[in-house]
Amino acid sequence: MTTQETIQLFDKYVIANYGRLPRVIVKGEGNYLFDADGNKILDMFPGWAVSGIGHCHPRVVEAIRKQAGELLHIDNTFYNEKQGILASMLSERGFGGKCFFCNSGAEANEAAMKLARKYTAEGKYKFITTEGSFHGRTYATVTATAQPKYHEGFLPMLPGFEYVPFNDVEALQRAFSDEVAAVMVEPIQGEGGINVATPEFMHTIRELCDAHGAAMILDEVQTGMGRTGKWFGYQHFDVEPDIISMAKALGGGMAIGGIMAKPEVAKALVPGTHASTFGGNPIACAAGIAVIEAIEQDNLLQNAVQMGEYAIEKIEALKQKHEIIDHVRSKGLMIGIQLTGPGAAIVDKCLEKGLRINCTQQTVLRFMPSMTVTRDQLDTALEILDTVLTEGSEE
Ligand code: PMP
Repeated sequence: MTTQETIQLFDKYVIANYGRLPRVIVKGEGNYLFDADGNKILDMFPGWAVSGIGHCHPRVVEAIRKQAGELLHIDNTFYNEKQGILASMLSERGFGGKCFFCNSGAEANEAAMKLARKYTAEGKYKFITTEGSFHGRTYATVTATAQPKYHEGFLPMLPGFEYVPFNDVEALQRAFSDEVAAVMVEPIQGEGGINVATPEFMHTIRELCDAHGAAMILDEVQTGMGRTGKWFGYQHFDVEPDIISMAKALGGGMAIGGIMAKPEVAKALVPGTHASTFGGNPIACAAGIAVIEAIEQDNLLQNAVQMGEYAIEKIEALKQKHEIIDHVRSKGLMIGIQLTGPGAAIVDKCLEKGLRINCTQQTVLRFMPSMTVTRDQLDTALEILDTVLTEGSEE
């Protein structure tokens, strides 16, 4: 099928709720995508921050293939080995918690919030989240998402949510009460523009949750699985949450989400309280296991740190050259370049030259390459950005 034929199918049969780039992607390999017209694209924002270890990692593909030949799906009426193994691997790399699996980030946050309600005392029903956050598009998670543009057309949102500015300790203290069931935050806001939490903010959340018997939920959907240089974002802070949510990079490209909760918190979910038909299915879990193995075998946490530092050095050099670059915010390979003006046209021009990056909050360019990214690939990516910025300033 030609690109045009595929687009025609979409026009006629697919709900147009995404602004899509006019490319049909037919293949992914490592840090590259290939479109139906034979173009090769260097992908610095793989799968919307999904592919933490690159597209179609051979280990993941093999694990899926093998599992597909044995058992594609089994519901949670039974046990399945892969779900148990993945849970144990996450627990060992996290805080020794217990896991529940589902299929996406939003679903993971729903589970986290429902668990917080079950775990905390009766009468606690409020959730505090932070301005600029992103937690998903289901009704509760989009209510938790404290950005007005996502609420447009859906008001009134669900009751019980309060929003405080990110990293504002005093606002958090003022918002707290004994009615709060949980605080939910991203250790580093992704859609919000790569905003890194301050240690003070994280510690204050922990202290206030302890003082008021509330649960601390960290949304690790973007920060989880190594991209920041540690397995989970919270590990950059000397703080332990009660619940984390995970998705995106967890499945190496397969649809999977999950939560990990401290064992005493996890106890609140008993049969009948929460469920997901496909949650923890053997295929997605086999992929998740392969992701963790690949990260460890290939020392990818270390690579994320080193390549993150390398990228920042190069971006700082670009900043000297291009006035439009204001500053960079980052942790490992979660990189946001704050511009002084809009970035959408820059993203489009980069794509024309074979580079995929992303722009969020209108003025933040996002680089979130996979942890397998190489120096050469970063060089190429930043050379393209350099060229585009130079051309832009000459227009
Ligand atoms: N939480 C965060 C931090 C996210 O970035 C996203 C997706 N961008 C979600 C939750 C929702 O994940 P999903 O699209 O898989 O529901």
